[in-house]
Amino acid sequence: MSNMLFDALFDEKPGQAVFIELADGVRWSYDDILNETARVANALVSAGIQPGDRVAAQIDKSVSAVALYLGTIRAGAVFLPLNTAYTAAEVEYFITDAEPAIFICRSSSDAALCPIAESNHSRLETLNADGGGSWSDLVNASANDFKTISRDAHDLAGILYTSGTTGRAKGAMITHLNLASNARTLAEIWRFSHDDVLLHALPIFHTHGLFVAINTTLIAGASILFLPRFDADEVVSVMPRTSVMMGVPTFYTRLLGNNNFTAEQVQGMRLFVSGSAPLLEETHNSFYARTGKLILERYGMTETNMNTSNPYEGNRRAGTVGFALPGVDIRITDAESGIELADGEIGILEVKGPNIFKGYWRMPEKIAEDFRKDGFFITGDLAKIDEQGYVVIVGRDKDLIISGGFNVYPKEVELEIDALPGIVESAVIGLPHSDFGEAVTAVVVAEQGSSANEKSIIARISVRLASYKQPKRIFFVDQLPRNSMGKVQKNLLRDEYKHIYKE
Ligand code: AMP
Repeated sequence: MSNMLFDALFDEKPGQAVFIELADGVRWSYDDILNETARVANALVSAGIQPGDRVAAQIDKSVSAVALYLGTIRAGAVFLPLNTAYTAAEVEYFITDAEPAIFICRSSSDAALCPIAESNHSRLETLNADGGGSWSDLVNASANDFKTISRDAHDLAGILYTSGTTGRAKGAMITHLNLASNARTLAEIWRFSHDDVLLHALPIFHTHGLFVAINTTLIAGASILFLPRFDADEVVSVMPRTSVMMGVPTFYTRLLGNNNFTAEQVQGMRLFVSGSAPLLEETHNSFYARTGKLILERYGMTETNMNTSNPYEGNRRAGTVGFALPGVDIRITDAESGIELADGEIGILEVKGPNIFKGYWRMPEKIAEDFRKDGFFITGDLAKIDEQGYVVIVGRDKDLIISGGFNVYPKEVELEIDALPGIVESAVIGLPHSDFGEAVTAVVVAEQGSSANEKSIIARISVRLASYKQPKRIFFVDQLPRNSMGKVQKNLLRDEYKHIYKE
């Protein structure tokens, strides 16, 4: 009788003093966390939660929130974290769809969420950033020992709704095997040991901060320095107490923009990992120039956990996401026929392995659409395998532009624009056009005082790219719209500029 994920994370951690340390010096040992998960699991059971029930949470980042996640796993239930930015109207969809037995929210949103919980027969409790709330009262009154509920490899550990930038959000069903296998693999390939201290500044409602960061640290018996959010000054000041940081690309650009961030600060750091969105080559290079450290870029998604990583030892190549993880199979196929393509050709990236989710919650029909018959999951990312075997992500399938019948990969155009002097970054999108179907359009962020303009960019690009790939128009903005994980929200740009070729 065992609970696959919980046992993997907590087994054999002899002598581990610190699991979580807060910037203010408060420390939680492995034993403290273990006791807290027992109290949480007891509180869940006394609230009537059965194995397989969903435990939804829209709460701020705190150690109590981590304990809620781990205690939910221990009680055999399914953790369902929700982005703290979601409005009550958005939350209603998730609660109606997932029907959690219990929903834990912040006291500040209690009144707005109460009718939603009530109409879905979910018990509503509160948990606040400072550890207070009705849920904490229940947890504090519960016993320290709990007989962990058995769960098998294919039982659900979590449901994470995908960002759903287009269409209806879908709940990705993540199993014990998915998480335990991925944590074990990442801890191994990134050489985690119990001497490590992870600098944790990511949100914990997303796979990156919740599963990748916390599970990998726990399975290795390492420690976490836990910050409530990413604040460049604070990150710089605590960095000398840590050895690894996992971040999204925006973390790295913000650090580079901070004058206190120096090579001295990072002396004790053995690893910087980046993922969740593409890291610009420029950022990779500037980071190396400033610190002497090469950021290790990896690639994954909510549905698949992590799939590829640049090597720990060996060449970490900017603009690539490295190689398939051990135990994970990867192939690039033609979107329509599903036939595997030769190295160097751009197609859809497909993955198979113990890390791949079980399907979307209450959407069994999607299995046939999203999986090939031989079990490969169709990620929807366009990619190629380069001459050295590294995977290069070219963009999302839905961002592919078809202009005058020709395929234009936005990334190729973005790389050309980004390489021009005076340009910070760009996003290339396709917009409705009566002649071309879609017209290639660039939205560009220029450096302060840059003399780059629409005409000059088009002139320089025209000697580098075939005419069908060249942007018809270029727009300048102060910054690109990004979600909380640093992903550029091209859907917002497409919406904003959709009429420009019709005027
Ligand atoms: P999410 O499910 O929110 O984690 O988003 C997953 C998507 O983020 C992937 O399908 C990719 O499109 C993108 N992504 C994640 N990591 C990378 C990376 N290192 N480079 C480029 N895109 C990435």
